[in-house]
Amino acid sequence: MITVIGSINMDIVVETNLFPKQGETVLGESFHTVPGGKGANQAVAAARLGAHVHMVGALGNDAFGQVLRNLLKVESVKDQFVETTSTATGIANIILFEQDNRIIVVPGANHDVTKESIDAAREQIAKSELVIMQLEIPQETVEYALDMCQELGVKVLLNPAPAENFKEEWMDRVAYFTPNETECADIFKDDVENALERYPNRLIVTLGADGARYYDGEKHVIVKGFKTVPKDTTGAGDTFNGAFAYALTTGVGITEAVKFANIAASLSVEKFGAQGGMPKVEAVQARLK
Ligand code: ATP
Repeated sequence: MITVIGSINMDIVVETNLFPKQGETVLGESFHTVPGGKGANQAVAAARLGAHVHMVGALGNDAFGQVLRNLLKVESVKDQFVETTSTATGIANIILFEQDNRIIVVPGANHDVTKESIDAAREQIAKSELVIMQLEIPQETVEYALDMCQELGVKVLLNPAPAENFKEEWMDRVAYFTPNETECADIFKDDVENALERYPNRLIVTLGADGARYYDGEKHVIVKGFKTVPKDTTGAGDTFNGAFAYALTTGVGITEAVKFANIAASLSVEKFGAQGGMPKVEAVQARLK
């Protein structure tokens, strides 16, 4: 059983050929809403593979909140610890303009995930094989949850995004830490080899299409990515994390779990949307052969 403590957002995507100047109104090309938030994405990635997943988070008492809660239920992610609060549901307003993405995130209810939310889920956390967190909820909540997991002896997989919210002193409370290369450089202010050698079997750096790497205490291990033609890489990292967590709970070692996660993420980039391409376990197994 996995517990994900993190964000749930609705991505509001507008495509336009004209970018409005100050005070101007323009006609756009298309509009759609897509479920997102790193927490929800990673929960869905793990659940779709067959993990038993509980989510700890918060939604607003509004239409997006209802839609996102229903989507979690459809994916069999347990929503008992997803509170409904008086703040609006978190959103990411994404403007696709020419080759450019302009994104405004309003965390909204995600900032209502507090120490009390973690206390409410304590029993669930204690029963978990693994807790997954990212950094789109308040820092003090992440810190509190890390302390609780350490006290309860529950392993934590921390995906440090956005990296600026990470504190290096947390490393001793983390079993697995999964930055991409940019986040790794931002956090450790060092080259990737040195950073990996400081945290053997704990720091796993994702390398986009090239896969992921870690240091096993004796040598650097690079687990190559699965070659594919990507359509949309949004959510590749979230699929990787959900799948890596799922694989670890099946009892495999780090190399096998990374291989599994690379394949799951390669399947996800072949379809549009963060959650759209997240695979079922059979699809991953077919590629593992
Ligand atoms: P994102 O922010 O796009 O969700 P990220 O920056 O957190 O992703 P990446 O290192 O880019 O993380 O990708 C995560 C994983 O997704 C990689 O380790 C790899 O397994 C897979 N992946 C990403 N891009 C590709 C690709 N083009 N082809 C195959 N696999 C990919």
